[in-house]
Amino acid sequence: MRKLLEFQVRQAGLKNLVVLSNRAPYVLQGGDGEITATRAVSGLVSALEPVMTACGGTWIGWGGRIAEQSRVGKRLPVPLEQATYALREVILSREEYEQYYHGFANDCLWPLFHCFIEKAVFDHHNWQSYVRVNRIFTESALMEAAEDALVWVHDYHLTLVPGMLKNKGYGGKIAFFLHIPFPPREIYSALPWGGDILQGLLGCDLLAFHLPGYVENFLRVVERLLKAEVDYARGLIRWQNRNILVRALPIGIDYTKFEELARAEQTRRRAGQIRREVGARRLVLSVERLDYTKGIIEKLRGIGEFFSRYPEYRNKVAFLQVAVPSRTEVRSYAGLRSKVEEMVGNINGKFSSGWQVPVRYKFSALDPADLVAHYCAADVMLVTPLRDGLNLVAKEYVACRTGGDGALVLSPFAGAAEQLKGCILVNPYDRFELAEKIKKAVDMPEKEQKARMILLQRSVRQYDLQWWWRGVLAGLARGDAGTPPAKTSAGTRIAAGGFIAKQQPDG
Ligand code: UDP
Repeated sequence: MRKLLEFQVRQAGLKNLVVLSNRAPYVLQGGDGEITATRAVSGLVSALEPVMTACGGTWIGWGGRIAEQSRVGKRLPVPLEQATYALREVILSREEYEQYYHGFANDCLWPLFHCFIEKAVFDHHNWQSYVRVNRIFTESALMEAAEDALVWVHDYHLTLVPGMLKNKGYGGKIAFFLHIPFPPREIYSALPWGGDILQGLLGCDLLAFHLPGYVENFLRVVERLLKAEVDYARGLIRWQNRNILVRALPIGIDYTKFEELARAEQTRRRAGQIRREVGARRLVLSVERLDYTKGIIEKLRGIGEFFSRYPEYRNKVAFLQVAVPSRTEVRSYAGLRSKVEEMVGNINGKFSSGWQVPVRYKFSALDPADLVAHYCAADVMLVTPLRDGLNLVAKEYVACRTGGDGALVLSPFAGAAEQLKGCILVNPYDRFELAEKIKKAVDMPEKEQKARMILLQRSVRQYDLQWWWRGVLAGLARGDAGTPPAKTSAGTRIAAGGFIAKQQPDG
């Protein structure tokens, strides 16, 4: 993949790339003297590090260090084994960590953009802190970016940076990618600083979202709140004498890497071990961060309903729930954890058969190799978020099913559902439907599994990480990325790359 990326990067004429994200690709620890750097595990790092390695440049992000005063921190060559690009660290103050990161990004933008308006906290101090931290990131970018650079800003933590760069006279190209949904106008309008954020984003040359639906929401908001001129058919915004390109480019996975890992002897052995440990005939897996958007409570209700309706499955089906710790210092997340653990206990207390429990639960992250072994071991993957920008786990499961079997049960509220024809769609709010779709998946004949998996794998393989990169690079090089957010008949949209993403009626 690296060689191809190098070629694409050269073709796009990119000489100097500066990436900005809230979290740096390495977690830094230590004081002002010796510091240690550990590679961070996240979807963002997996998607961006290959291109940073291919074309060099600088990645600016918070490495996890907190000081009395925020500032631009160390500049380190990374990856540590063989340095190919630089990491420019941003250090936050304790107050900014509370107000910018938790207060504004996590407690205001995250719930609002996921349409959980009742959970969003609107606080002016948090907003001011958010503005301050966006300024620090902007200063760091100005230190790193030459005039022929591309500054590529990621996610909802840094929406003001593009506008701040433009205001400071930066003349190079700026792109922005939003990794979470963009909400409809009725919800976005509740944000007191909505206009400032839009103006910040419009400092870009290219703005990309996962789905055409998010692009459409964004264009409507910009038209209504800023009275900007919007060309829906071409995905263009005319603002302050500039054209801003808006595109749908759902992020892909490194398909070959997952496939190879899934075929490795060691992975097969580990998958066999997992199956033996669980002992049940059918194994259903869920892996997600412990976040209210992931719908874990609702899913557990569906599992309870399944065992209650179908007692004959109690010793035949086992659920593995991996809940990855997330925002553990936030009280509401600790509350969610207690509720999930209580429900797991209740289900197991009620539906155990002998000493075999129906739900196994783990509160920790799996490393990539172990995660792939779990994907290989699972007959069914249950991904039922209430709202999710895309969802990479669903795509990774599909790539790892090298034998062509397995069933994916997916919520239509995960962005990935628009691409993944062949899954079983389920409404996560309806525990009766959940119970029925779980039954359908565990009972699915092998022939049907394989027919569906062909469709799923075709899509995940075609719209992989390479494809995503090509779309982004093309857009930046020639002002021509992905596909405009054209809409056809109800339920059918033309997604990025021009394929028609239409789900079969029942999923
Ligand atoms: N992941 C991991 N270990 C785990 C669980 C998840 O490495 O135990 C990775 C997974 O491979 C995926 C990412 O974390 O690439 C999660 O991305 P996704 O889009 O599914 O959800 P997010 O956490 O970004 O909302």
